[in-house]
Amino acid sequence: MTLVYQSTRDANNTVTASQAILQGLATDGGLFTPISYPQLELDFTKLKDASYQEVAKLILSAFLDDFTDQELDDCINNAYDSKFDTLEIAPLVKLNGQYNLELFHGATIAFKDMALSILPHLMTTAAKKHGLKNKIVILTATSGDTGKAAMAGFADVPGTEIIVFYPKDGVSKVQELQMITQTGDNTHVVAIEGNFDDAQTNVKSMFNDAALRERLATHQLQFSSANSMNIGRLVPQIVYYVYAYAQLVKTGQIQAGEAVNFAVPTGNFGNILAAYYAKQIGLPVGKLICASNENNVLTDFFKTQVYDKKRSFKVTSSPSMDILVSSNLERLIFHLLGNSAEKTADLMKSLNQHGQYELTDFDPAILELFAAEYATEVETAAEIKRVYEASDYIEDPHTAVASAVYQKYRTATGDETTTVIASTASPYKFPVVAVEAVMGQSGLSDFEALTKLHEISGVAVPSAVANLETAQVRHKTTVAADQMQAAVESYLGL
Ligand SMILES: *Cc1c(COP(=O)(O)O)cnc(C)c1O
Repeated sequence: MTLVYQSTRDANNTVTASQAILQGLATDGGLFTPISYPQLELDFTKLKDASYQEVAKLILSAFLDDFTDQELDDCINNAYDSKFDTLEIAPLVKLNGQYNLELFHGATIAFKDMALSILPHLMTTAAKKHGLKNKIVILTATSGDTGKAAMAGFADVPGTEIIVFYPKDGVSKVQELQMITQTGDNTHVVAIEGNFDDAQTNVKSMFNDAALRERLATHQLQFSSANSMNIGRLVPQIVYYVYAYAQLVKTGQIQAGEAVNFAVPTGNFGNILAAYYAKQIGLPVGKLICASNENNVLTDFFKTQVYDKKRSFKVTSSPSMDILVSSNLERLIFHLLGNSAEKTADLMKSLNQHGQYELTDFDPAILELFAAEYATEVETAAEIKRVYEASDYIEDPHTAVASAVYQKYRTATGDETTTVIASTASPYKFPVVAVEAVMGQSGLSDFEALTKLHEISGVAVPSAVANLETAQVRHKTTVAADQMQAAVESYLGL
């Protein structure tokens, strides 16, 4: 029997895995979500010696069960190859008192590569399976990392076009340069005058615009999403939690079966939701520690069950987590409400109309899996320095948010369970913040900071940033937030 993915907003809208990947978002505005979990045996006496690709095969074939073995092997082998600078793909590093799972060894040195290096292959494979003739148009709003990682994945992939929107003043200089120097004839990058939520809201409304969909279809085009709402992003992210656990068993840090906590720096709630799914298929997970920066809407939600986006948006040193509407939380809400599309749709309507909702009558066992806290800007910088002094290791600001929150959690609860910090970006992606935190030096340019970071960390400068300063700028468009659709129409010749 194939696994059913159902829209979080309509119980009658069900698809298979490959259909869900092709569609990205459900046309009713919901997210395709598994309503039961595959049964699989996680035997860590064997998995401890499995390669990343082998663990990926196990997880992907369970969740993406309408793909053939051969199709999945091709996708996995095309994704997790020499684009990553280590054979381990996601190395687990032991620091003083914590383990950091380095998810930043791919093409763009942030964790989005873990899923976006495979998504284009899953999508074009799904298109072939369904005899699709339309060109797939990937529309993406990014708070910095998704856009670049998506373009790196989709650049010059036949049958695809990709358009990326980012908040003009909401990304780091290195992030911006990475995007605007992107090569590939099918890539388009647009800065918008607005924040990430403006970009995301307008992208969502284009997806939900039936008239626009029809116009696209007459031009043999159709939208799909590379955002973390796409199940084809979520499922590949389950893999590294299982892989990290296997490494802990392999090195004798834990016994198979022992619980492990994961602390995850959270924005759109995709990464931590993947850890939740890992638990659902039998990974021994203790707490899922949801770490936020000063945009702490999720911290408040987990503490009060009220989600309230009516608050000021803060630009922080961890821009990929500067989010007030956390899209993937909708999937957890759906599960908390006993997989009720009707109740989920009501709450999302309330969020749209009133900027908030309150969760009542939910499954407390699911909520108890989560702990939530946030770190201020000062605490985040102090954590980068603390880890450097304790372990001679430099964390990027996103990872440092999770690391700081884990310290708070451990102090508050006394929970000494082995804990893995999802390390979502290389410090080379945010060199100014890292160097300022460690050296107390300010006013450095990004490229001065890169050099300095190399001196103090001794870690080689990744090729993803080494050539940025001299790379040709290929994308120069800036538009107002309400002109995003016009930009899309012009690129696509509508
Ligand atoms: C995207 C991103 C996050 C947040 O991940 P979500 O899945 O959106 O919660 C955290 N850190 C970095 C570096 C990111 O790029």
